Amino acid sequence: MTYITVNVHRLLQELPAGVELVAAAKTRTPAEIMEAIEAGVKILGENYVQEAEQAYSAIGRLAQWHCIGHLQKNKIKKAVEIFDLIETVDTLDLAAEIDKRCRQIGKIMPILIEVNSGCEEQKSGTMPQNVIPLAQAAATLDNIRLVGLMTMGPAVGDPEDSRPYFVTTREVFQELKRLNLPNIEMKYLSMGMTNSYKIALQEGANMVRLGTLIFGER
Ligand SMILES: *Cc1c(COP(=O)(O)O)cnc(C)c1O
Repeated sequence: MTYITVNVHRLLQELPAGVELVAAAKTRTPAEIMEAIEAGVKILGENYVQEAEQAYSAIGRLAQWHCIGHLQKNKIKKAVEIFDLIETVDTLDLAAEIDKRCRQIGKIMPILIEVNSGCEEQKSGTMPQNVIPLAQAAATLDNIRLVGLMTMGPAVGDPEDSRPYFVTTREVFQELKRLNLPNIEMKYLSMGMTNSYKIALQEGANMVRLGTLIFGER
């Protein structure tokens, strides 16, 4: 067995039931990605539409495809063909464009709102206080379906320092759940990467996005 297989097996053992593993596949070859799938990975996360297209042409529907990177407007038409879930919606403009492109191909796209949980300027994601208004607006669009929240959080050295950002995101998630708004289903809380996923799980994540831990250093 290669290290990718070993890593995936170990992770699938370790992750609590009900937690979805997204293999963050940026920079990995189709052969590496296939190995992860054969070891049990069911969801791939891609940051760039062009890279996703290349991997998708080799791998197709053997896994589900999540968009985990910032989406440019001119890539949305292609993106809605490939992706099964877009984790990085952070403006109503983007939601509306996804909705429009999905309507053209008769698809309903599940989306997550990306939360800028560190309130960092120049970073993608919606500021925490704007998530609920965005969710309400997105819920009026027929060809997208809001199913949860995603966050990255600021880059930190000590994983423990990620905790406050995960708490912030989980609190908004719980509030949206409590509000029980029409056309919104708060099902997925996507938080945690290689450095921070254990903290994220403690704070309620049920979707973790792992690259390095599966494939090794980039
Ligand atoms: C690269 C990436 C990950 C995975 O990062 P690792 O530290 O390699 O686990 C998770 N989420 C997003 C959005 C990424 O770009």
